[in-house]
Amino acid sequence: MSKIVKIGKIKIGGGSPIAVQSMTNTDTKDIFNTIQQIKALEESGCEMVRLSVYDEECTEALKKIKSETEVPLVADIHFDYKLAVASINAGVDKVRINPGNIGAKWKVEEVAKAANDHEVPIRVGANMGSIDEKYLKKFKDRVDALVMSAMDEVEELESVEFDNVVVAVKSSDAVETLLANEKISKLTDHPIHLGVTEAGVYEDAVVKSAFAIGHLIYEGIGDTVRISIAGDPIREVSVAYSILKSVHKLENAIEVVACPTCARTQINVEELAQEVKKALKTVKTNLKVAVMGCLVNGIGEARDADIAVFGTKSGGVIYENGEKIGLVKKNKIAQSLKDMIEGKLKGGKYENR
Ligand code: SF4
Repeated sequence: MSKIVKIGKIKIGGGSPIAVQSMTNTDTKDIFNTIQQIKALEESGCEMVRLSVYDEECTEALKKIKSETEVPLVADIHFDYKLAVASINAGVDKVRINPGNIGAKWKVEEVAKAANDHEVPIRVGANMGSIDEKYLKKFKDRVDALVMSAMDEVEELESVEFDNVVVAVKSSDAVETLLANEKISKLTDHPIHLGVTEAGVYEDAVVKSAFAIGHLIYEGIGDTVRISIAGDPIREVSVAYSILKSVHKLENAIEVVACPTCARTQINVEELAQEVKKALKTVKTNLKVAVMGCLVNGIGEARDADIAVFGTKSGGVIYENGEKIGLVKKNKIAQSLKDMIEGKLKGGKYENR
């Protein structure tokens, strides 16, 4: 089992729940919009937000951003040790930097000292896209090259007595990401951050991440996760939770399933399922809710759901454990389900599920 690492108010590793993170795509110097995006990410369930810190002005912006946000912040830094130290002094909760890129050992020591003084962990690792050529020459297997490159980063920090480390090995290739994380999990007990890097546009990123990250999490590998999707980062958070839920690593969250629709469909299933998901997002219990397009085949198809709603021409019929509960108008279905489940939770139903 991995070691516990504290990142601001959250803990990762040591069997803690897997933390979902994302990254802003605003300019960090644009303090207003960056704070807005961080708050939107937090609202969507993001537990840690990474920001690019590329010059001194960004480290100044971090102070203000930190003072106006609650979620743990991670400073993403390349090459310049001074930016890492300044970010730590600005109050960030974690730094992502590779000691191999910093240069002289004394610079690595400076960063390690600041991080130790502020109890800030450092995330190191390797990315197949930017891996040093020497590893690719030394190791025939690209995955071995990626893993050993990351392990050298870890060792460099350990050589300056720094142990508060998170490690990541990433590739834009899902299979390489999967194999590299399986390998590195056998070599280190530092917590592992999972991600398929530069995964692509929405559908490609979702498929790659579901395959690699879902598989790893199912195997018990990984402590934090970021789904890398080109564009709006808010979507990364909901995809991460869907993956966690699908591999049974998310407790107290309702799973909403929906039929694929066909010629029998009586209601807009996709729209309704989205409404139901949104309404039930904050309800904390382990239930499966099915949104089905018709009653005729739906009852059989939704048999393993705890609660199901079947579309009719005028609205929906709600069933619980195969028993009909009632008819609801179309625009009231999502709220009715929420009220019904919350009411039963208050009455002690669905406990210990
Ligand atoms: S539940 Fe009804 S509408 Fe949905 S796929 Fe099955 S038969 Fe078609």
